[in-house]
Amino acid sequence: MRKFEFNKNINCFGELSDSELENEFLQKNMKKTINSIKIISILLGVLNTLFLIPDYFFVESLDSFAIICSIRVFFVFIIVLLTIFVNKITSHKTLFYVITAYEVVCIISFIFVFYRYESPDYLIQSFGVMVIITGIFMVPNRLINKIAVSIIIIIFFNFMSIYYIDNISMKELSAVIVYLLIILILSSINSFRDDYYKRVHYVYNKELIRLSTTDTLTGVYNRAKFNQEFKRNIDYAKRYGTPLSLIIIDFDDFKRINDNYGHLAGDGVIIQFVEIVNKNIRVIDIFARWGGEEFVLLLPNTDLNQGMATAERLRCSIEKYVFENADKITCSFGVAQYSEDDDMESLLHKADKMLYEVKGKGKNGVRGYVEEKSL
Ligand code: GH3
Ligand code: MG
Ligand code: MG
Repeated sequence: MRKFEFNKNINCFGELSDSELENEFLQKNMKKTINSIKIISILLGVLNTLFLIPDYFFVESLDSFAIICSIRVFFVFIIVLLTIFVNKITSHKTLFYVITAYEVVCIISFIFVFYRYESPDYLIQSFGVMVIITGIFMVPNRLINKIAVSIIIIIFFNFMSIYYIDNISMKELSAVIVYLLIILILSSINSFRDDYYKRVHYVYNKELIRLSTTDTLTGVYNRAKFNQEFKRNIDYAKRYGTPLSLIIIDFDDFKRINDNYGHLAGDGVIIQFVEIVNKNIRVIDIFARWGGEEFVLLLPNTDLNQGMATAERLRCSIEKYVFENADKITCSFGVAQYSEDDDMESLLHKADKMLYEVKGKGKNGVRGYVEEKSL
């Protein structure tokens, strides 16, 4: 399994360098992300009301307190809207825009409240900013957005404080800026680590699934994965009465290829054969390596005649193809259509029986199973 490297596989914002893979990861995690956004935003909404306690002591008039209360209630209202509508978001890009906008609203409401205080205390307010930055880092978002929003609040808060509060000393100003930056850096490291390991886990998991379901030489499904798909398709055909056909393919005289051109050339032929088949089948068809130089092809919504036509088309393409490092190659095909009383084993048996009839009658042919009689 390949090694996961910082800079090569992952950038400094904890995102996968391969943007297609990053989008796939984010999209696959949308449901989880949305659920945690809902839980965390409700929690932040509740915690936001705790700010009413210091608010009460900071404002002198009841009017100002009423205004602050309405701002805090408005913020809770935004959170309720977010938790209701976040389910409707289907793209991770939109989700991150919405979250960032929500965080900007949070900053604006903080600044509004701050502006209502008659004599705000710079140091105490800076605690509020620290809490907000911690909150921003808790809500799932791209790291770059979290950092950008946090920098905006640090800059806004300090400029407003210098403008609005008299006699802030250099000592206080420098200490607050340094502490806020430390919070920002520590939160970023934490968030980076979290994003990094989630992606490592995703990539390794994807690789494991690929290794356990595909054939290493050709990249098509292996027998285990084919059996899974086979069962699913039989269940579907049984339930909805749709036709389903199975083709078994075996190379003719493949030992000769290995003997004459070597095993590596034989491998090359198998790879080229898979390319030919893949070009000639539909995306819904399930193509797998059954073992050795035998392959199986499952054709949903396909009856025996159509299955035999597909097999014949493949047979002709292979017969005509000029293989690299080998001479002419042919294949034999056994075809069977699923009938109501079939299971995986019986259908395979029918197709296999047809294949052996072709082998016995000169190879390079197609034979289909019809109610105990072959065509
Ligand atoms: P027949 O027409 O009766 O099928 O003759 P055949 O020579 O193809 O006989 P059989 O199917 O019994 O033998 C298959 C041969 O394919 C034997 C094996 O060495 C070779 N083979 C199986 N898997 C691979 C592979 O992955 N690479 C290579 N190079 N050869 C393989
Ligand atoms: Mg063979
Ligand atoms: Mg064989």
